Amino acid sequence: MPISNLPSPISSLSSLRVVVIGAGSTGAAVAHDLALRGFRVTVIERSEVAGGTTGRNHCLLHSGARYVVNDPIAARECIEENLILRRIMAGGLELNDGLMIAVDDRDEAFKPRFLAGCEQAGIDAHELSVSEARRLEPNLSPAIRAAVRVPDGVFEPFRFCLCFLATAQANGATVHTYCQVTDIQRGHNGAQGVTVRHLRTGKVQQIDADFVINATGPWSGRVAQIAGCDVPVVPTAGVMVSIPQRINRMVIHRMYLPGDGDILVPQRQTSLLGTSSWVVKDADAIDIPADHAQRMIDLTAEMMPIVKSIPYRAAWAAARPLIGSARLGDGRELSRTFECFDHAKEGVPGFITITGGKTVTARVMAEKVVDLVCAKAGVQAECRTREVPLHNYREFYLS
Ligand SMILES: Cc1cc2nc3c(=O)[nH]c(=O)nc-3n(C[C@H](O)[C@H](O)[C@H](O)COP(=O)(O)OP(=O)(O)OC[C@H]3O[C@@H](n4cnc5c(N)ncnc54)[C@H](O)[C@@H]3O)c2cc1C
Repeated sequence: MPISNLPSPISSLSSLRVVVIGAGSTGAAVAHDLALRGFRVTVIERSEVAGGTTGRNHCLLHSGARYVVNDPIAARECIEENLILRRIMAGGLELNDGLMIAVDDRDEAFKPRFLAGCEQAGIDAHELSVSEARRLEPNLSPAIRAAVRVPDGVFEPFRFCLCFLATAQANGATVHTYCQVTDIQRGHNGAQGVTVRHLRTGKVQQIDADFVINATGPWSGRVAQIAGCDVPVVPTAGVMVSIPQRINRMVIHRMYLPGDGDILVPQRQTSLLGTSSWVVKDADAIDIPADHAQRMIDLTAEMMPIVKSIPYRAAWAAARPLIGSARLGDGRELSRTFECFDHAKEGVPGFITITGGKTVTARVMAEKVVDLVCAKAGVQAECRTREVPLHNYREFYLS
């Protein structure tokens, strides 16, 4: 039903076409929300699903505990979405909880602020005795002084995106991979679609749309620039190291402010050690500093010394799409929250960027941007993604 103070005439919802650029966690969740509300959705991804930052991340279904002291907004977003994902993606997650551990005086002194932060953010945190923690995680350092159990979990990034996209496809969306947006079509009324190049065939095609959503994570500044728009995204890289043995059952964090090498995530038969943080100019050209992989090993070994006795299998880097001002540094001061940028203010109505955030907050990021699309289109269509269960990831390939 039209909203009275918005422009008319208004198209029927099912005829409104939206192009979503990017099939990482953000684009996948946006496609799902749009399709569920009745839009005609086309997703354009220049590589494979989750081929950007999402496919290279730490796989941590954050409870938000990591951010309770320095970034309480992000902490609250994480716990709210963590609880929703447990409902809608139940079969796709490993719900193994996390342990925040103190291994020295500094961490122990941090505990009261940490517990107060968890309470304020609404995170269910339970202090365990050191012997209980060691029983749960026998590889913990003998230096451990305190442990708090929090509702973390683990996701598999590719499947995370496929669950959203499989559901979007079931609701009519189309997904094109290996297809790059090279231009945003603009007319008197703003964005009118995109020009794409199919990377496998070289074919160039125009896809018309009423709205174009830029969900390209650390590339969102570059994609916005195609339309002469600005997005203050700061690609902030981090190194991950994988060891070919699952040394922890739960997620293990250092009980302190977020820093380098303070998380260990079990992922299938491996454990992922990470991460570091530094601002990069180009998310496509990240030079991993020579000492970062060894630093991850040395720092995570303070929580689990066994890390040092297992030769690592791989190290890689990806860039977080953080929002802020682009000065070179470590980017730790930038919030992990997200933002919608309506490029109508820059003369391109119908073109919107959604960026920042985390994989765990993809659903609420989608809710916000699709609410904005609905408001601009003058349609009322409630967001239902909090309740509607997602399809199994395998169904992506059956459509
Ligand atoms: C080291 C590291 C660890 C992290 N760990 C976690 C974690 O444990 N848990 C968590 O929740 N979050 C984590 N994050 C954050 C999370 O990974 C990101 O916030 C999230 O993946 C961003 O998703 P996105 O879809 O916005 O961007 P991306 O995943 O980068 O997706 C953007 C997509 O756009 C595509 N694209 C770019 N340009 C074009 C174009 N012109 N045409 C078509 N397609 C294009 C890219 O190929 C890419 O696939 C981590 C980040 C980093 C860097």
